[in-house]
Amino acid sequence: MKSPIFLNVILLLTSAAAAQEYDLLLQGGHVIDGKNKISAIRDVAIRAGKIAEVAAKIDPAKAHKVVNVSGLYVTPGLVDIHVHVYAGTGQRGAYSGDNSVYPDGFTLRSGVTTVVDAGSSGWRNFPDFKDRVIDRSKTRVLALLNIVGKGMGGDPIEQNVDDMEAAATADQAKKYKDTVVGIKSAHFRGPEWTSVERAVEAGTLANVPVMVDFGTFRPERPYQDLVLKKLRPGDISTHMYLGAVPMLDDTGKVNKYLFEARKRGIIFDVGHGGGSFLFRQAVPAIKQGFIPDSISTDLHISSMNAGMKDMLNVMSKFLNMGMALDDVILRSTWNPAREIKREEFGNLSVGSTADVAVLRVEKGNFGFVDILGARMKGTQKLVCEMTLRDGLMVYDLNGITREDWNKLGNYGAQGDHRWDTTVTEPGRARKKK
Ligand SMILES: [Zn+2]
Repeated sequence: MKSPIFLNVILLLTSAAAAQEYDLLLQGGHVIDGKNKISAIRDVAIRAGKIAEVAAKIDPAKAHKVVNVSGLYVTPGLVDIHVHVYAGTGQRGAYSGDNSVYPDGFTLRSGVTTVVDAGSSGWRNFPDFKDRVIDRSKTRVLALLNIVGKGMGGDPIEQNVDDMEAAATADQAKKYKDTVVGIKSAHFRGPEWTSVERAVEAGTLANVPVMVDFGTFRPERPYQDLVLKKLRPGDISTHMYLGAVPMLDDTGKVNKYLFEARKRGIIFDVGHGGGSFLFRQAVPAIKQGFIPDSISTDLHISSMNAGMKDMLNVMSKFLNMGMALDDVILRSTWNPAREIKREEFGNLSVGSTADVAVLRVEKGNFGFVDILGARMKGTQKLVCEMTLRDGLMVYDLNGITREDWNKLGNYGAQGDHRWDTTVTEPGRARKKK
């Protein structure tokens, strides 16, 4: 039996739900969205995991939860296309094992919502990687398949040209096309082009880009030929500021072939890592306009506590080398999303996945270190205040989404399944996509 009071309550709830058409409203932040060419103060509303509205002013009454982010930058969730996260296999000294890290401790706290594992697994062990890490992480983990079937198992596994099968690799890429976004050639020491050629063959068969870590640079296969002849437009040369890359001529000018390669569509990616970023390459290159298409970390156990540290530290280096903030954000969001052909990420278009980073630029005296331990002074540093994945808060450094404890009376768990994953009532978490 329904009493009139009960019906009134239903009506009230219904009208409240109708008024609150948005789950979450980020109010008053400076939005930087390279895809939509926005760099201005905007409100951002989110509904059901998607961007619902971006406008100069959105009525806060329309939102279930309002967060004031004035003074902060609101950007698409960062997309880091070079990491190693195939941890937990127990394999010593290998990126398909102990050299990798589990992603969630390094990503969300840096504003990163999507990472691409760069070839830690190959077609043979990708299903294990998927089961072990990809399917269990809060971070969205995509992957490049190593052209070596067993992936980055160290040597001699990674030098075994008999395990570089283009067809098997392409088949696996197609089978897991939701997760596999490309092919990787890496760490190759031999004089042949086999590793690169098979990777490109697999990339062509599966219609995905190839990323190359050129391994040992050898006169038999010059880097110039890699970027001018061997790679296809849309393929990616990572570790662009590596010491071994023939970057500058005797007079300190950036070599012309690099601009030619870029003109033919080759993508240049940072891939900082533990051995692949020198200020003496990057600073003059950036001054002369040879800037990265995408900024990425090459996160692994040796880079995480050295000069690289995390995505925001690498981005901060570029900020302090003179790149504009909008440009740094573009190259850490929309550009990498396009490179891996995942245009649903890296932007804040209405209808896009609501992956969002809320960042602060700190001013002060800072220092940044390259892979040989050289320091560069800086005055700006990016800090992550808050991260959303699929519209849900996954990180909140200073509790800007929260009420003060002493205003809550006899309080319990403060979770809210409509916008929050970090404190949730038992059984109320929204199902992971
Ligand atoms: Zn790497």
